Amino acid sequence: MTKTQPLPRILEAIDAGATEIGENYLQEAIRKDVFALRESHGVTVRYIGRLQSNKYNAILRVFDAVDSADPEFLERLHCVQDRVARRACTFLLEVNAGEESQKGGLTVPQIRELAAAGTPWLHEISGLMTVVPLQATMQMRARMYQSVSVLFSELASDLGSSHVTLLSMGTSDDFELAIEHGSNMIRVGMGIFGPCSPSQV
Ligand SMILES: *Cc1c(COP(=O)(O)O)cnc(C)c1O
Repeated sequence: MTKTQPLPRILEAIDAGATEIGENYLQEAIRKDVFALRESHGVTVRYIGRLQSNKYNAILRVFDAVDSADPEFLERLHCVQDRVARRACTFLLEVNAGEESQKGGLTVPQIRELAAAGTPWLHEISGLMTVVPLQATMQMRARMYQSVSVLFSELASDLGSSHVTLLSMGTSDDFELAIEHGSNMIRVGMGIFGPCSPSQV
């Protein structure tokens, strides 16, 4: 996760082996021109921020993946016939595993219902992404990661295990726990770059 990190630090991480980078703000990503790293270093540039409908197209044009996809976004996407305009983007559906009311994203039971109802836009996803509540204990996180992991397996068997392949769970604080519960993509920021960049971009 490279938010707030200036380009030279991102390059250090890439030189050390990072192959995917995640940004939370479109404007910041454009300003830093992280997209040039795709050509120069072959990295995948992922969007993991809030989605606003007036920015859908701009995000689709520049990012390789949207890991914070919500139903509105996926539904809109599903209606777009022009596959070229969408590039080869990958989409992960965000799960609100802590069932936090102030947070976007569907809960595990809600997604299960949509799958049972044969919701067409679910076919757009390549997996799931979840951010657990900051204050959740390790025990609570373990339960949430486990429940998202079970849902992930169900979706893989419903929608095809060659389509549904990515389970993005875990940050610097708890990635070991997330991996124990099936995560195959972790999102590490501070664990690589140290606490908060002094030079906010
Ligand atoms: C910043 C961020 C992370 C990384 O968190 P760290 O605690 O710095 O590892 C992970 N996921 C999302 C969605 C983020 O915005």
